[in-house]
Amino acid sequence: MREGIHPDYHQATVTCNCGNTFVTGSTKESIHVEICSACHPFYTGQQKAISARGRIEKFNKKYGMK
Ligand SMILES: [Zn+2]
Repeated sequence: MREGIHPDYHQATVTCNCGNTFVTGSTKESIHVEICSACHPFYTGQQKAISARGRIEKFNKKYGMK
């Protein structure tokens, strides 16, 4: 594939407050997040799943994840 087709698209390193890092596609080269799939209550437990839902959607929207 030729370069230049997606000139603003990078492999972004996402760093979470919990210390977890992962790579995703983004127009930014690095991203810092407060919460991620590794530490988010929605994934790690049931207690705050309902109240956290808004943040998940916000997160997913922001970073284009599903
Ligand atoms: Zn995290």
